Parts: sequence; C-alpha cells; structure tokens
Amino acid sequence: MKEIILCKYGEIVLKGANRKYFEDMLCREIRKRTKAYGSFDVYRAQSTIYIEASDDGADFDGMFDAARKVFGIVSVSRAAVCDKNIDAISDTVRNYIPDYLSEAKTFKVEAKRSDKTFPLDSMEISREIGGVVLECCPKISVDVHKPDVVVKVEIREFGAYVSAGVFKGAGGMPVGSNGKGLLLLSGGIDSPVAGYMLAKRGVKLEAVHFESFPYTSERAKEKVLDLARLVAVYAGDIKVHIVSLTHIQEELVKHCDEDYFTLLLRRYMMTIAEKVARDNGCGALITGESVGQVASQTMQALGVTDAAVNIPVFRPCIGLDKEEIVQISRQINTFETSILPYEDCCTVFTPKHPKTRPELTKVLVQEQKLNFDELVEEALGTLYTEYITAEY
Ligand code: ATP
Ligand code: MG
Repeated sequence: MKEIILCKYGEIVLKGANRKYFEDMLCREIRKRTKAYGSFDVYRAQSTIYIEASDDGADFDGMFDAARKVFGIVSVSRAAVCDKNIDAISDTVRNYIPDYLSEAKTFKVEAKRSDKTFPLDSMEISREIGGVVLECCPKISVDVHKPDVVVKVEIREFGAYVSAGVFKGAGGMPVGSNGKGLLLLSGGIDSPVAGYMLAKRGVKLEAVHFESFPYTSERAKEKVLDLARLVAVYAGDIKVHIVSLTHIQEELVKHCDEDYFTLLLRRYMMTIAEKVARDNGCGALITGESVGQVASQTMQALGVTDAAVNIPVFRPCIGLDKEEIVQISRQINTFETSILPYEDCCTVFTPKHPKTRPELTKVLVQEQKLNFDELVEEALGTLYTEYITAEY
C-alpha cells in the first residue's frame, strides 16, 4: 500500500500576498530534509504539503519524524493512497485504519471531496466508511462531537487519501522568514533553548561563543559546537563565531573591583556580539537570560548590560522558570549535553559578592579603568568561525 505524508501549516496561511513566499520556503525546508531519507517528491496543493517517496528504499518513518521538526508545520499525518472508487477506499480503510484505532474508544469519519465529480457526496462517504470501520473494529463506537480519532477520507484529483491520527508538528514559522539573529551560545541549558525558541519564530541563527583559553578547555568548546549541532536539527546550518575573552578577563582581574567582574564582562560580551551581529547581517542578539536567575540577571543588572549596546536583545527565556527551560531542553534533546561538566568563561574569576543592584554610573567608573574600545578590537581580532551543517 502506498503511503504519503501530509503537512498542514498554520499562521503562514494568514500572510496574504506573502503566502506563496512562505509556502515555497516551507517546501524548501522540507526538501533539505528529504536527502537523508531517500528520494521524495515534495509538492503542495490546497494548503497542504505532500511528501511522497519516489523510490521503494526510502525511509518513510524517518522522513515522517523529520517533517515534524520543520518550523511552520502545525500538524503532520500519514495517509494511504488508493483509487478513487468507494470499493478501493473501503478496502484501504479495512487494511490501514485498524492499527490507528487500537487504543481508541470512539471515532468519527470526516470526508472531503475536492473532486465534485465523485458520485458520492461527503455525507454519503462518511456514512459508508463509518460502516466499514464499525465492521472491522467492533469495539469502537461513533462520537461525532469528541471522538478519540478522526478517520479522514479525501477525494482529490489524482486519487483518494485515507488517514487517521494527526500528529503535532513543530509549529512556528519557517526559519529565515523573520530575519537573522546572533545567539550568544554558552555551554549551559538556557542559551540553546533561547536559540530554538527564536528559530521557531522564523529567525535564522548565527552564534557567537566566548572562550577563555586556557582557563576554559578545548572540550568546553567542543561541547558548545555539539549543542549548536543539536539546535541545527531545527534551526538549519549555523555559523558559530568563536572569540577569546582571555585578555579582557585578565585585565579586569588586575584593574577593576571584583564585585563588578561579571557585569563588566557581560558588557564586553554584548559589545563584541553587537559588532559580530552587524558584520554578519544579524538584526538582534539572542541570550538565554531569565529575570532573577543569577546576580547578573536581576532587572538592574540586565539594564546595565543592555546599556552597552544599541541593537535589540531578545531573551525568550526571560519569564520562564528554570524547570520550564529544562523541559524544553529535554524536548529538543540538548539537556544531556548541556549538563556535561564544563567551564564557561563566566564561571572563571567569579566575584564572591556580585552586585545585584548595580548603578550604571558606578559600573562606568570601573569600565573606564581599562581601554574598552581597544580591548574589544583586540578580542575581535581573535575571532574564527566554525561552520555547523545541519544533520536532520
Ligand atoms: P545558559 O544560560 O546557556 O544555561 P548560564 O546559565 O551559565 O548558561 P549565564 O552565565 O547566566 O548563563 O549567561 C547568561 C547568557 O549569556 C547565556 O544564556 C548566554 O546567552 C550568554 N553567555 C554566557 N556565557 C557565554 C559564553 N561563554 N559565550 C556566549 N554566550 C554566553
Ligand atoms: Mg542561564
């Protein structure tokens, strides 16, 4: 029996004149993912994207899971394809549907007839197919209001589709439909989640990671690249720019009041990130900060950090509890990597009594003890780029 994958998209349907642009983007995103699973045709009709294997060796199940990770797709179902006559449709229902109904107590049939030349109308198809389902699954009953499973029959131009069971897609909008942002990617739990959340809203990601070699290790950097690889499964290819903060941190320790180390370091990070963003066409910075999570994430500390830059800073985790962030990181498979032991440049030279309610004027007094611009330029001189290719 021939199966096909049907993808429904959500918000992009509302985009009026831009609709075709979004649909093409979605098809492109899906096509990129087909390569790993064999040969598939991807096409769209009537607000649905169809994915159809074009050779017998294609990994249909793998492709189905991959389709569920494409941002912009709200639901994915699989359907059996058959000839457009009621006998063939009934046979297909008998062979294909019982597996989907094994756990269900109730069902209903929804029939749709785009081909109006089909001799039965939707009501008649529903009635006929409802009878077939009751015959082959004797324990189930009809519930037209709140069924456990909806059995769908669609009569299209080239054939009929029979399906049951709709699975949730990744939601959001196609990556690249909302510009590009620069993710400040550490090895922790929060920043990969932040990247995922913005990618979900259609933002293409580029990343910057700050290292502090030899205070941070090669392994810590590898871990960050692994995290980028995991985020790339959803977000697509990611360029990761790596910048050394070693000299800046050494200068801070030598010349500035310890209580301000983290805040000063964060202002350097943001300033460097802003320059990297502008050089690479990114319209915003993205961080994993959450209000009140640590001393450098109180409202006042975030204010001092933001005052260093002149570019929007997106913090999608800002209102989430740690536990909620952890939940998302488990769902996107970054958690286990994030909790591997590592050093981060923020965790070397940490002050014992960080300022939780810093005043910008006092921070600036500390900052002026060093040649800020020169240190920023010097750090930018250490930048090199790793290219992470998405493995779907
Ligand atoms: P994460 O937030 O990723 O779990 P964390 O909790 O250790 O790591 P903080 O040290 O509080 O994060 O930093 C807050 C945010 O600053 C991070 O979410 C990340 O966006 C950014 N950041 C921290 N360290 C780095 C780094 N070494 N390179 C790039 N960005 C960083
Ligand atoms: Mg954090």
